[in-house]
Amino acid sequence: MLSMNIERADPNSIKKAADLLRSGKLVAFATETVYGLGGDATNDKAIAEIFATKARPEFNPLIVHVSDAQMAKCFVEWNARAEKLALAFWPGPLTLVLKRTSDCKVSLLASAGGDTLAIRVPANKAAHALLVDAGIPVAAPSANRSGRVSPTTAEHVYAEFGDRLPLILDGGACDVGIESTVVDVSGDEVFLLRPGTITREQLEEVLGGKLSTPDEKTGVLKSPGMLLSHYAPSLPVRLNAVDAREGEALLGFGKNAPHNTVINLSLSGDLKEAAANLFAALRFVDKPELYSAISITPIPDTGIGIAINDRLKRASQT
Ligand code: AMP
Ligand code: MG
Repeated sequence: MLSMNIERADPNSIKKAADLLRSGKLVAFATETVYGLGGDATNDKAIAEIFATKARPEFNPLIVHVSDAQMAKCFVEWNARAEKLALAFWPGPLTLVLKRTSDCKVSLLASAGGDTLAIRVPANKAAHALLVDAGIPVAAPSANRSGRVSPTTAEHVYAEFGDRLPLILDGGACDVGIESTVVDVSGDEVFLLRPGTITREQLEEVLGGKLSTPDEKTGVLKSPGMLLSHYAPSLPVRLNAVDAREGEALLGFGKNAPHNTVINLSLSGDLKEAAANLFAALRFVDKPELYSAISITPIPDTGIGIAINDRLKRASQT
């Protein structure tokens, strides 16, 4: 059933969403990664409203979405590495952290008061049309209450915020399904702040050099999304399960998953498919009235599996 505030993304609803954004209101919309809770990045009040709606700690900065690299250059100090990465991966699920320009119009709240800004050009067609129509940079963290599992359908967003939002643009299920790769190219050393479906190997190949991994302490300072407990369902999550214990809902992977698997993230063992299914599966089994815990069989820790395991590790922390 479509709720009053869910509208399928089409030229009319996209125009309505762009008008709402320009007037300082929040709109949830699909990107290829997860659904975003968007607001005008140049409007302090809209940004404050995003933090309030998500109950997000104010030290956790937001990713700003723009329609193309040209627009990104209005807000961040562009450099050769950013150019290479943008040419290779934009539009797409890669966020670049760069220094804010001296006259950057984006609210400082989106940078959590710091001197850098995280910026991305999404590939999703409706998201792109929305950004072009709005003509403003749009800050859009995942459209969920802080710390919870990111939404990958319009219904997930509705489950988080109900009628509190004026509009949820329904662009269907997200193709990628987990949040963007975040890479800090603001300084001499390049840091991988958050793994995603664009892998470390792909980034290193384009840059022609190694990426650094921030240690847990500086990492959290640089990128609070690295907080250990994040992306968490309400039920406890147990990793590396070989079988379901009593009361557990088991998520499996691959053709050898145990017979009592409730959802198989990818029967064929495809990590891309598993990433796309991950958050919907976690939400589906997050039912305290049916289960006492969620368990999950091992996911190979290579390529996109690294990003999946990163999210699972955080989901399993209490
Ligand atoms: P979300 O929008 O919920 O996907 O979270 C965005 C994440 O991007 C944050 O939690 C940070 O980890 C990271 N991020 C955003 N802005 C910055 C920034 N200026 N510097 C470093 N990391 C950032
Ligand atoms: Mg998030």
